[in-house]
Amino acid sequence: MKLQWQNGNPLSWNSQKVVCVGRNYQAHAQELNNPIPKSPFFFIKPSSAIALFSGSWEYPKHLGEIHYELELALLIGKPLRYGASTNEIKQAISGQALALDLTLRQLQTELKSKGLPWEQAKAFDRSCVISPFAETATIPGEEVEVEIRLHINQQLRQRGLSSDMIFSPISLIQSALTYFSFEPGDILLTGTPEGVGALSPGDYLKAELSQALPETSCYSSTIKAELNIIQ
Ligand code: ZN
Repeated sequence: MKLQWQNGNPLSWNSQKVVCVGRNYQAHAQELNNPIPKSPFFFIKPSSAIALFSGSWEYPKHLGEIHYELELALLIGKPLRYGASTNEIKQAISGQALALDLTLRQLQTELKSKGLPWEQAKAFDRSCVISPFAETATIPGEEVEVEIRLHINQQLRQRGLSSDMIFSPISLIQSALTYFSFEPGDILLTGTPEGVGALSPGDYLKAELSQALPETSCYSSTIKAELNIIQ
C-alpha cells in the first residue's frame, strides 16, 4: 500500500514496516493494568498491515472484537542504523501523520496470559491505518508539542499530548535501532493515550492532530482524518 502526502502525492518509497511501541503513555498502561515501563518495548506491523486513514475500512467478520488506538506516526525518510546520532535521527524524520494501531484485544489478552507471542493480535491485515503525511520541519513531540484527538460518532474518545509520552520520539527511535534498522518509508508509531475501546461497523471516526504555535498557548490543526467503518 502506497501512503500519501497531504497534497495527494504518493510517498516516493514503499513502506516496508511499521515499528510500534507498547505503553508510552502512563494513563493507558494503567487502564490495561500494565506496569509503567522503564524502557520501551517494540513490535512490528508488516506492509500488509498498512491501510489508508481515509474513506472506508471494511470490518473483518472473522476476527472478533477490534480495538482502536490513536497514535502519532512519524515517517522516516533516510536510512537509520544502530548508533545513529540525535541529529541524524532528526534529519531522518520527514513527516507526521495520524495512525490507528488496530488490535484484537481479546486474542492479545489470551495469548499474553499463556505467555505466547501476540503478533497475530497486532499485525493482521489492514491493522495499521495511516492518514496522509504532513511534512515536518520541527520534530513533533520533541521540538514542538502536538495533541492528537479521536472522536467516534461525534464523541471524544481519546486525547493525548506528546508531553505525556513516557519516551520521546527520538529516544524511541534510538532504542528501536538496537534491534531494527529503518529504511526510507518505514514508520514509527509512538503509542496510544488512554481511552482505547472497541470499534463497530457503522462507526464514524474523526481524528485531528494539532500543533502548539511557538510562544503562545494556541494550537493549530495540521492533520485531519476521517474513516467510516463498514460491514
Ligand atoms: Zn499501540
